[in-house]
Amino acid sequence: MSKESTQQHIRTLGMDVLRLPLFGRLLRHRHGRLALQVLFTAIALALVIDGFTGPQSAARNLATVTPWVYLRGFVVIVLLLAGNLVCMSCPFTLPRTLAKRLSLAGRRFPQRLRNKWLSVIGLFALFFFYEYLDLWASPWLSAWLIVLYFAASFALEALFAESAFCKYICPLGAFNMVYSTLSPTRIGVKSHDICASCVGKECVNGSYAPQRLVRLDDIPTGAPGESRRVKVTHGPDGALGCGTELFAPQIRSNLDCTFCLDCVRACPHDNASLFTRPPGAELSRADSWSRRWDLSLLAIALGFMGISNAFGMVPPYYALQEWLALNFGIQSEFIVLLLIFGALNLLLPVIASIAAAWLSRRLTGSHKRDSIRETVAAFAPAFVPVGFGIWFAHYSFHLLVGPLLIVPVAQEFLGGIGDWQRFSASLDINAIGLIQLVVLLAGFLWSLRLAQKAALRLYRRAALLGMLPWALAHLLMMLLAWQIFTLPMEMRGTLQIFS
Ligand code: SF4
Ligand code: SF4
Repeated sequence: MSKESTQQHIRTLGMDVLRLPLFGRLLRHRHGRLALQVLFTAIALALVIDGFTGPQSAARNLATVTPWVYLRGFVVIVLLLAGNLVCMSCPFTLPRTLAKRLSLAGRRFPQRLRNKWLSVIGLFALFFFYEYLDLWASPWLSAWLIVLYFAASFALEALFAESAFCKYICPLGAFNMVYSTLSPTRIGVKSHDICASCVGKECVNGSYAPQRLVRLDDIPTGAPGESRRVKVTHGPDGALGCGTELFAPQIRSNLDCTFCLDCVRACPHDNASLFTRPPGAELSRADSWSRRWDLSLLAIALGFMGISNAFGMVPPYYALQEWLALNFGIQSEFIVLLLIFGALNLLLPVIASIAAAWLSRRLTGSHKRDSIRETVAAFAPAFVPVGFGIWFAHYSFHLLVGPLLIVPVAQEFLGGIGDWQRFSASLDINAIGLIQLVVLLAGFLWSLRLAQKAALRLYRRAALLGMLPWALAHLLMMLLAWQIFTLPMEMRGTLQIFS
């Protein structure tokens, strides 16, 4: 790559976030991520302690208020404005280094499970049990969930060579990864020429070795035919390579990226970094995502899960429960919930996406050229903004009706008297409604634009017909969500009902 093309490549990469004065230095530092993880581990421990020993009232306990009211609201804001900083700071992966030392035998996660089906099941299970066990109302159960999370991530890190928990199982990670595809940041490399000359590919392989090893790489300087020798050291202090097995120069998507920055720290040529990009840039490119059923349905079903999650908190949900009990004699809440969530979270996304793909192929006469799977895969990224809008509208509602209520909860946890009067102010309920409407509409219009781009790529002149079924699906999702948000919603964790 010539000097000009290298500079051009750097320009298209956007700004190097890790070169920012304070934040960048902190993240780039060898123990930068560790500092964030230690902070969040301390918070997680506080939640566990309060969950097991504190008041068993959801609104007064850190174990329920923090994850179910605050964290979710902050997660969607951070994903939209910065990137997957949540996985970056995730305390559950803190024991990773220790666990990795145990898994040096290098056992791989079973081939059949190396996909997103477990993530779909994990998300379904999380939302199902959240509702069935009323996790939001039980500090004790919420604390157990955190303990279970630590145990599961440690066990999987110790058992398998790759970060199987983050990549294939963790429902929170799956949520963050899908919606970080909208983020304005991504991992990239400054020069592909340097990567081509790099012998060890440490960004993915790591620089850890039981004994010290030194290697010399001939790295191009940018001037034609010139290179310089760079000493590369591996050893017991070496950095881990990418746990989710992404190869930095080939990364096209934030899916699977935990923003751990291990690749940046492992790269001996200072070539990998975190760059800005136009938000959601990958969603309008045809080659960003693999054309797999599991990936497509994860992105699509997550939007529908956003609808059912909000639906579980409004009166028609309880009316439906009663109707099922009266007309079909189903008394078991477990069965009722399984039926409702199974239909809304799994069956409906599958039917809707297959029907939309079938229709757009028929309307455009492309049914002999494109399979249903390929068509669904082409339009699946367009479900990300509308789904994110639904989650954002829901979570921001809970966050904004009591943005400071965490203060008295923390005061009581620390042994003081909670100043509930002072910190109970809510944002005006009409203003919250307006914010919800704006984000729902923005998500819908963004999805529409992505569906149009996908249709233009696939169908050219027949694009309008081809995008019609998908646009209809986005419109119905948005309208359904809006209908739910206009109903009185349980204020879980703050013991208030707004109407
Ligand atoms: S990102 Fe760094 S470690 Fe990875 S291939 Fe490129 S130069 Fe090598
Ligand atoms: S090491 Fe892998 S998961 Fe971590 S930031 Fe780099 S590419 Fe993403």
